[in-house]
Amino acid sequence: MPVPTRNELWIKVQQLLQKNLSKPSYETWIRPAEFFDFKDRCLTLLAPNSFSSDWLRKNYSHKIEEIASEIFGYEVTVYIKVKDEFPSNKSNKKKIISDVENNSVATRENLDVKSKQAPIKKFLPGLNLRYVFNRFVVGPNSRMAHAAAMAVAESPGREFNPLFICGGVGLGKTHLMQSIGHYRLEIDPGAKVAYVSTETFTNDLIVAIRKDGMQAFRNRYREADLILVDDIQFIEGKEYTQEEFFHTFNALHEAGRQIVLTSDRPPSQIPRLQERLISRFSMGLIADIQAPDLETRMAILQKKAEHERMRLPRDLIQFIAGRFTSNIRELEGAFTRAVAFASITGMPMTVESVAPMLDPTGQGVEVRPKQVLEKVAEVFGVTEEEMRSPSRRRPVSQARQVGMYLMRHGTDLSLPRIGESFGGKDHTTVMYAIEQVEKKLSSEPQLASQVQKVKDLLQIDSRKRR
Ligand code: ADP
Ligand code: MG
Repeated sequence: MPVPTRNELWIKVQQLLQKNLSKPSYETWIRPAEFFDFKDRCLTLLAPNSFSSDWLRKNYSHKIEEIASEIFGYEVTVYIKVKDEFPSNKSNKKKIISDVENNSVATRENLDVKSKQAPIKKFLPGLNLRYVFNRFVVGPNSRMAHAAAMAVAESPGREFNPLFICGGVGLGKTHLMQSIGHYRLEIDPGAKVAYVSTETFTNDLIVAIRKDGMQAFRNRYREADLILVDDIQFIEGKEYTQEEFFHTFNALHEAGRQIVLTSDRPPSQIPRLQERLISRFSMGLIADIQAPDLETRMAILQKKAEHERMRLPRDLIQFIAGRFTSNIRELEGAFTRAVAFASITGMPMTVESVAPMLDPTGQGVEVRPKQVLEKVAEVFGVTEEEMRSPSRRRPVSQARQVGMYLMRHGTDLSLPRIGESFGGKDHTTVMYAIEQVEKKLSSEPQLASQVQKVKDLLQIDSRKRR
């Protein structure tokens, strides 16, 4: 195919997407997006509104990038901007309502409400093309979850039903779960594979209740041969959704259909979850994914580089993998920023040139030292005062070390300045603390999850600030 010019690119991508997507998806999301710019390997599109831009970003940007990269033969990054913003309160309110409706439309379209008339093959793919087994790097941290996922894809509804995959943010739960769906469809193209986030399930239920469509709702979800429900922890406290999900679960389970769930924690630790659901969720296999060790993180970057047809020096891979320890999404984000930075500036891909670009808190979020202290204190159950004191009590020194580690990675403070934030500690103490935390992160899951929790809190806060 001859390489198209700048704005022809988007038309070409649209044409290819049209072939791959259902008509409603294409008409709702892809067609209305307009070409804005293509510069420095970045394709910028304009979405008609912020909901649509969020949706595109979340669900289609990878697909668009993949196709655009294919056409150009090098990695293209996609940015999606909102064409018109509606800042007034009134229209914001309107937007939220229409979000729910849009969401349900999209969901319905995905899940194929009219399954009676619809051909089987349209039964909810909704899977990300990248989330397949052969792009999943198996390490000691994920070996068991991976093996269970393969087993379930090969013989669904047998041994492990449900398969409950749990693990921290960005550790590959969704990837692994969707791989099961892809693989199942490969083995049996007629299989009815349903992927749904817990949020979508909940929204769908709300819409069904409001529009008196409960029967359709039930038929739809209970028809799946293999149902993948992502982030089930969000069902916490939602009594009615739990009730309905309980019945969906039972209907599927009794019919020998395979259920796969993911969550950021095991069933028994999900607060405000009905006992009967805890027991259902635990009756198959609970497989967890831990934070990957350095070697696995390097292998993940290596694999990604191969896919992007990039060659990165080994020391750069090691450097990036060394700085992003507890979240693969952040690790990938760092990689992408490094590549983008090098291609935009034309600088070589070396540790020196790329290092300043890498912000381990992800998303370029700016974190203030004060916030780090605050959140660490909160998660570790100590006071900020104690962290600044000379106390060597174990919980205090643990929290202090983590605080130093997070300041190092989340702010641009120098070691002596970090020391100052902790009541005037020496910079060698800070260095030692950072090393300790780095070492412990791969061997102490409890600590890793506390650190992740602080990071999450910091990011949530910074999102609110924006
Ligand atoms: P989670 O659902 O646990 O928050 P995701 O499945 O969304 O995490 O994974 C985050 C990102 O990291 C995705 O882009 C995914 O492809 C990638 N990823 C996670 N685990 C692996 C792995 N073992 N090998 C390759 N890529 C991975
Ligand atoms: Mg996920």
